[in-house]
Amino acid sequence: ERLHNDFQFIDVGRQDPDKKSIDVRRRDFGEIYEPYTEDQVKNQSHRCLECGNPYCEWKCPVHNYIPNWLKLVAEGNIMEAADLCHQTNTLPEVCGRVCPQDRLCEGACTLNDGFGAVTIGSTEKYITDTAFALGWKPDMSKVVWTDKKVAVIGAGPAGLGCADVLARNGVRPVVFDRYPEIGGLLTFGIPEFKLEKSVMTRRREIFTAMGIEFRLNTEVGTDITMAQLMADYDAVFMGMGTYTYMKGGFPGEDLPGVFDALPFLVSSVNRNLGFEKDPGDFISVAGQRVVVLGGGDTAMDCNRTSIRQGAASVTCAYRRDEENMPGSRREVANAKEEGVQFLFNRQPIAIVGDNRVEGVKVVTTQLGDADENGRRRPEPIPGSEEILPADRVLIAFGFRPSPASWFGQHEIRINDWGGVEAPEQQQYKFQTSNPKVFAGGDMVRGSDLVVTAIWEGREAADGILDYLDV
Ligand code: FAD
Ligand code: SF4
Repeated sequence: ERLHNDFQFIDVGRQDPDKKSIDVRRRDFGEIYEPYTEDQVKNQSHRCLECGNPYCEWKCPVHNYIPNWLKLVAEGNIMEAADLCHQTNTLPEVCGRVCPQDRLCEGACTLNDGFGAVTIGSTEKYITDTAFALGWKPDMSKVVWTDKKVAVIGAGPAGLGCADVLARNGVRPVVFDRYPEIGGLLTFGIPEFKLEKSVMTRRREIFTAMGIEFRLNTEVGTDITMAQLMADYDAVFMGMGTYTYMKGGFPGEDLPGVFDALPFLVSSVNRNLGFEKDPGDFISVAGQRVVVLGGGDTAMDCNRTSIRQGAASVTCAYRRDEENMPGSRREVANAKEEGVQFLFNRQPIAIVGDNRVEGVKVVTTQLGDADENGRRRPEPIPGSEEILPADRVLIAFGFRPSPASWFGQHEIRINDWGGVEAPEQQQYKFQTSNPKVFAGGDMVRGSDLVVTAIWEGREAADGILDYLDV
């Protein structure tokens, strides 16, 4: 039993978990953070002020009971903390690793004002990893199984969030995914240095033991039809993500040596995981001068994967300034440490080269008036064009939805940018225009975050339970 210290937040500073040495990080694909020791995590979680009105909870998209589980950790009660984490979050060990905490929970922590926010994300990761190692399992003893079953299309965070809540309420979920492992972009997108793949394998075992069935390597529309799912199940949830790559719309994007971000990242994952079907699919940047275009999480992952593959140099060009980058600041800092060169306020206007890429023509920008989303628009400065030499260019401009050909046949409406219409505010949350079909995650809100996809999947499960009157 520890003594309570009201001034722990002053006596003990914020301390993130230790990182591996830069040397190791530059060639190793494993996660870069070491786990907290028991002492470290107790000291850090004890820094929480237990504010009466915890802003961190509100800023967390799944509204985790953060101060409550921090207190349990400070007291050494990990199993109870893991139970509490799972009341609101389907994948706490994943969110602890990949949420942009500086913009979410930790950004809202009262101590973020000069003292250093409580390390909420790293503690969430510690709780789940430690509880799993101690044999923690979700308590399903009170679940009474009904005769209802729901097909879930997509084993990404949205589909998994939905399946989790359905199973805990006695409705059998059967999850279909075209890929050979669960996780969606958690497995086939986000690199191992942020999220080791064993995390999802372990999760699959836990979900399976909870009564969730997975049918992997099964694409809806090819291996099984939507009509079949509609006939066999009481409802269908779609969490299929967004997979159309955004283009820059400038000359040279089709030159050999230019690649979209996701095929590059997926080819690297497939090689590391042994899922590679044809060695010709692997996109190597070893020994090459790489230019990455974009400033979000995907761009950061391309930068850092290129470093680990042994690129001769990695330059990231972004059209706004550092302040206005959309991704997590922690990952930008990690990329800089690992040797990525950043060129801010540079807008690409062409990819140049004779038969293969030789460089990227960029123009310097200054920030002008705010656009409709309140972000200041980059405006080119005439005469500032320059060419960045490059052997490989990786384009990370984001994703648009990829509506399935069978949506129309099943009266599933999409909006003008291709997103599935499934509003939260209606009688049955996240129901589409087809009453039996629900949807959530990136395919509804556009590319966003793991934690928001989990939230929508969980909320949609509530909508489905109401619809099924369970
Ligand atoms: P997805 O994760 O895309 O999952 C959709 C699943 O549906 C896939 O497994 C797909 O195979 C399956 N599917 C689609 N169509 C079919 C079909 N017809 N039949 C069967 N299966 C189908 N977010 C963060 O919070 N932090 C990060 O650090 C972060 N980094 C990212 C890095 C990269 C490179 C990318 C691309 C995204 C990143 N994101 C990050 C965003 C985050 O990964 C997504 O917002 C989130 O995964 C969306 O979840 P989802 O369930 O909606 O879709
Ligand atoms: Fe923070 Fe994400 Fe965990 Fe919420 S889920 S507490 S935002 S790390």
